[in-house]
Amino acid sequence: MRLHYFRGMNKIEHLGIAVKDIAQSNQIFEDILGIAAYKQEEVESEGVKTSFFQVGESKVELLQATNDESPIHKFIEKKGEGIHHIAFAVDDIHAEIARLTGKGYRMINEQPKSGADGKIIAFLHPKSGNGVLIELCQDAE
Ligand code: ZN
Repeated sequence: MRLHYFRGMNKIEHLGIAVKDIAQSNQIFEDILGIAAYKQEEVESEGVKTSFFQVGESKVELLQATNDESPIHKFIEKKGEGIHHIAFAVDDIHAEIARLTGKGYRMINEQPKSGADGKIIAFLHPKSGNGVLIELCQDAE
C-alpha cells in the first residue's frame, strides 16, 4: 500500500494585526479575548514588537513598528491599523515554498527566515495571495 502524505497548510497558526501602540492594544485584546498575552517579543530584524494571545488552536499576533523602515510602519501609513497577515502552519516549509513557486506564485522570501515565537517563516507576496499577505510558518524545533 502506498502512503499518502498530507501536503499543504495545516491550520491558521495566527492572525497578524498591525497596531500603533502595542501597550494599548494588549489591553484591548486582553479585554476582548478574556486572556492576557502569553508572550511579548521584539524581532529586531523585522523592526517589530510583538505580543501573542492563544485562542483555541490559533493565535493573535499584535505587531507594532519599532522604526520607520519597518514593514508595519509602512503598512499603517498606507492602510491604517488592522489585519496585516494570515499565517498558516506547515510541516515542511521548504516543500511548500517549492510547491507554490512551482505553480508560479511569488514569494517575498524564497528562503525561510526566523520569525517570532520559535518559528521559521516565509511570506507569499500579497499580489500572489489575492491581496492577502500570507505567512507560512513551521516550528523551528
Ligand atoms: Zn506572523
